[in-house]
Amino acid sequence: MNKKSIYSFTLNELADWLVEHGQKKFRAKQIWDWLYKKRVDYFHEMTNLNQECLDLLNEKLVIGTLKEEIKQESKDGTIKFLFKMTDGNLIETVLMKFNYGYSVCVTTQVGCNIGCSFCASGLLTKDRDLNAGEIVEQIMNVQKHLDKRNKEERVSHIVVMGIGEPFDNYNNTMNFLRIVNDQKGLSIGARHITVSTSGLAKKIYDFADENIQVNLALSLHAPNNELRTKIMKINKAFPLEKLMPAIDYYLEKTNRRITFEYILLKDVNDHKEEAKQLVQLLKNKRHLSYVNLIPYNPVDEHNQYSRSEKKAILDFYQILLENGINCGVRVEHGTDIDAACGQLRSKQMKKEKQKV
Ligand code: SF4
Repeated sequence: MNKKSIYSFTLNELADWLVEHGQKKFRAKQIWDWLYKKRVDYFHEMTNLNQECLDLLNEKLVIGTLKEEIKQESKDGTIKFLFKMTDGNLIETVLMKFNYGYSVCVTTQVGCNIGCSFCASGLLTKDRDLNAGEIVEQIMNVQKHLDKRNKEERVSHIVVMGIGEPFDNYNNTMNFLRIVNDQKGLSIGARHITVSTSGLAKKIYDFADENIQVNLALSLHAPNNELRTKIMKINKAFPLEKLMPAIDYYLEKTNRRITFEYILLKDVNDHKEEAKQLVQLLKNKRHLSYVNLIPYNPVDEHNQYSRSEKKAILDFYQILLENGINCGVRVEHGTDIDAACGQLRSKQMKKEKQKV
């Protein structure tokens, strides 16, 4: 049986676990210090723990479970990691450098059941959820990569936008957020973390009630049901008349700005008419909305889609701006490597199949 990752525990959970196993509660803080401040790889490096405690940790828990399979580095400094998990499944994690710091995009599920028609990850249905430790470990592996280059460099931002729908793995995602946000650990500010959902309306209500300052992004991608259902089949279960009230509830409850992600697909959702419909959809929440226009990264398997013309992107942007909608066009990262989410993983899986 695989041992549990020590990164799965919140600080309180670890303290309780230690007490249950005959250890003192204060050891939890010492262990967290070794894990998140000194960032050791082995329990025996935790030199202020007694032998009994070390034996217990070695017997029951493990620090590292992910194995780095591939690391692709882009000219702009973006690094895409492909990790193999203990069950052989592959996941992607991306490190991006911005002028405000380093941001990591994490994966929350092996595959995804949402099935967005433009997405490489959605091609492969969900195999399983990641546990909180496996999500935390992605951050730790990237942080350790930075440590090797320069001890001063820190992961300062997190986007939960990699493979998977985080709200379809809600409890593990929330535990992950609590662990990385804890001041006694990595202490990554909640306002520096963004969770992106495809629109599981029920979970948006839950998230609004969490009393956590983490940002929310909604993958909208279309301003009407007909088009949105074509692009994202989740819209059948949660059409705009269910989704937008959930967003209104979130805004009212948190008073936090929400980001609407909008991938521009040539001649599909990038006409002036859709820009005008988007203005109408968001007009009552302009003050708390930001629209992130994303130029599409073509994926081999989805050759029905291509990137919008520059003029179409600009026209779309102008219409939003002229109507008082805060918006921007996403700066692209890693275009010279497998930039689209899930691309590296699906390529590697094909290679592994061919070997068999
Ligand atoms: S875009 Fe996100 S939610 Fe949609 S299929 Fe891809 S991983 Fe899943």
